[in-house]
Amino acid sequence: MWSQSHPLLTPYLFDTTTPQKSPFSYFCDTSSTCSSETSCSDLSSSSSTSLYSLKVFIGGLPKGATKVQVLLNCQKYGVSDVEMQGHATGYCFVIFKSQACCQKFMRDCVTGSDDRFFYPFVQDVFCSKRNMVEVKPFKLVDARYGLSVGKATNAQTIFVGGLPRDTTAEQLAMKLEAKFGVVDEVAIDLDSSTMYPRGTAMVVFRKKSCAHRAIAAQTFAIRKLNQYRLIELKPFLEVDKQCSVCRLFCPAVFCASCSKVMCSSCFDANHIDSNHVKISRGTFYTLRR
Ligand SMILES: [Zn+2]
Ligand SMILES: [Zn+2]
Repeated sequence: MWSQSHPLLTPYLFDTTTPQKSPFSYFCDTSSTCSSETSCSDLSSSSSTSLYSLKVFIGGLPKGATKVQVLLNCQKYGVSDVEMQGHATGYCFVIFKSQACCQKFMRDCVTGSDDRFFYPFVQDVFCSKRNMVEVKPFKLVDARYGLSVGKATNAQTIFVGGLPRDTTAEQLAMKLEAKFGVVDEVAIDLDSSTMYPRGTAMVVFRKKSCAHRAIAAQTFAIRKLNQYRLIELKPFLEVDKQCSVCRLFCPAVFCASCSKVMCSSCFDANHIDSNHVKISRGTFYTLRR
């Protein structure tokens, strides 16, 4: 069972392995150099303001665009880093210093016809030419779907891995629901410092049988534009769980064939002559890049 003090969504929205910023420092970083006119009260009082991850995807960069050029375009908003893998990839991630900095940048973006955002990117400061690059922010509200029912059991819950970062909780819920049955809740894990999706999520099905079918399927293809990505559907395994056989507290493993969670030693003892597969937290069904 879930621990009573932790409703499902709360622990998984944060990466508990790294020190957490206080919510206040996240929403209004006063140490930032960003001279935004948006104050904390503006952000919290305006229900129409979307809160975003501090890490924002920028795609369609002009040929030969460099990290320094991206920084020159965005530094006036307050940027802590630009992530760009090699050259000529045509995309990068900009990490803003605070929510206010990110909001200011988003306000300078142009909205396209279908809710897409574009930014007039300057490659050469001595030239007035602007290239429109596409900006894809992640809205924090998209990390959650459904209401925490508070009584969900591990047997109703699955762990999803390999999730495309721009997938929303609602999209994931709809896709899994169409295949396996009613989904009550989805929580996409976010990085604690940037609040950007980490590619993993917890999904709570209404029925144990639906969760069991999803776990038995192991993988599920999600369509993104013209590509399919295989996401992993795994049992929810706690780091420290009492084994149903020996009663010791150990990292749990799962047998999909027996549909049982137990400790690794008990799994081995109960599977001497079987070919059942031991699934642990580190088990991956797909190739990891
Ligand atoms: Zn055991
Ligand atoms: Zn088994």
